[in-house]
Amino acid sequence: MSETASAASKKLHIKTYGCQMNVYDSERMADLLRPLGYAVSDQAEGADLVLLNTCHIREKAAEKVYSEIGRLKVMRQEKEARGEGRMTIAVAGCVAQAEGEEIMNRAPAVDLVVGPQAYHQLPELIARTTRAKGERLKADFAPEDKFDALSTERQVSGPTAFLTVQEGCDKFCTFCVVPYTRGAEWSRPVASILEEARSLASKGVREITLLGQNVNAYNGLEVDGQESTLPRLMQALSEIEGLDRIRYTTSHPNDMTDELIRAHAENPAVMPYLHLPVQSGSDKILRAMNRKHGRQAYIELIARLKAAVPNIALSGDFIVGFPGETDKDFEETMDLIRTVGYASAFSFKYSKRPGTPAAAMPGQVDEAVADARLQALQALINEQAQAFKASLVGQTIDVLFEKPGRYGQQAVGRSPWLHAVFAEDAAHLIGQIVPVKIVGVGNNSLIGELEKVHA
Ligand code: SAM
Ligand code: SF4
Repeated sequence: MSETASAASKKLHIKTYGCQMNVYDSERMADLLRPLGYAVSDQAEGADLVLLNTCHIREKAAEKVYSEIGRLKVMRQEKEARGEGRMTIAVAGCVAQAEGEEIMNRAPAVDLVVGPQAYHQLPELIARTTRAKGERLKADFAPEDKFDALSTERQVSGPTAFLTVQEGCDKFCTFCVVPYTRGAEWSRPVASILEEARSLASKGVREITLLGQNVNAYNGLEVDGQESTLPRLMQALSEIEGLDRIRYTTSHPNDMTDELIRAHAENPAVMPYLHLPVQSGSDKILRAMNRKHGRQAYIELIARLKAAVPNIALSGDFIVGFPGETDKDFEETMDLIRTVGYASAFSFKYSKRPGTPAAAMPGQVDEAVADARLQALQALINEQAQAFKASLVGQTIDVLFEKPGRYGQQAVGRSPWLHAVFAEDAAHLIGQIVPVKIVGVGNNSLIGELEKVHA
């Protein structure tokens, strides 16, 4: 996050856990606090305000927060001992929403707890935070109030940016806390999204990633009061001068309309990449997860997509060790992965989340079995990802250069399929989209060479 406020006198450290939506929220919290004189710092040490923007999706993610609070408490004492004043500790994000009361009981060092739909009130809450009289818990559920309060003016830190267009979820997958922490599905109005996108584009952003828990269910209102759709929103965004690339995440298979598939084929700004989680390849497990679609429907959807957009790369999320998952169910997941072919994927061991229906289901899977399945699944995905990258060697692809590389004049950019691409002597091209010949494959990246005209 870049910092320009010259009058800034206080240090703000934000630690972000979890998904891209939290990354977006952290940037917006920094935007909100800048006028109060807070400048972002990479270090928690010596900070006047530390914000932990938390994730509740898996147990480990939530536990990390409590150990971080322990570390911060020590830093706070040291800061005070140095006579540098007090460090305010605030917890934001989904743990704050789900466990607000518990945090305050378990971690009295925390000054303020603020949920993901209430952080626009941070300036006021921080200003009032004194341990004696401040309101310590804010966890209202009104995303519309939040977006009304946030400025559409954005600070940018490079040619790519996230933009939240939809929040919450009504799908209630039996393993997932999102419907409880982020609330009901809600889409931002089109006009406010376009305004924010214009602000980003005017500051050099060339690629935006539209964010939502179920982003392809986007149905925000147009100025005339009509409901829009994600493809229509992307069409309007692609007409903004300078915005050349659009991505969106995360999508649900049931909201993958023909109109959206056509947008991939017809709107050149829409990147040929789709993150479409399926979670499992077993119909029995999909039913128990309440995913509301079967294995075959997903496979047919992918076939329709590939027919319309032959160069599309797919990504997904998988959960192994869901209650009741047998070796046969797991093998069906592996078989689905072989059938679909992924360019990348996120995979997780099922984590029991209190209050979700799956937590009470019989047949919880042994940890060692889940570990072994996760390893096997990741090895298969890795093989597919490497094969896809290898298929690009020798091709010339468009790369958006994003930031300096590891040394010298090297720069790192993004392929249309979201790979990191390293190229020598490209530092002068940061912020531009240029053709790059792929000459090699790294573990998580591609190695490219500039065409002579750009070198
Ligand atoms: N809305 C998106 C969807 O439907 O795919 C994703 C939301 S969630 C933030 C991201 C991923 O976390 C899910 O796709 C799922 O794979 C994983 N996840 C959610 N709850 C989980 C749990 N209890 N245990 C393990 N993984 C979980
Ligand atoms: Fe969670 Fe399912 Fe909603 Fe995704 S669709 S956020 S996994 S409940």
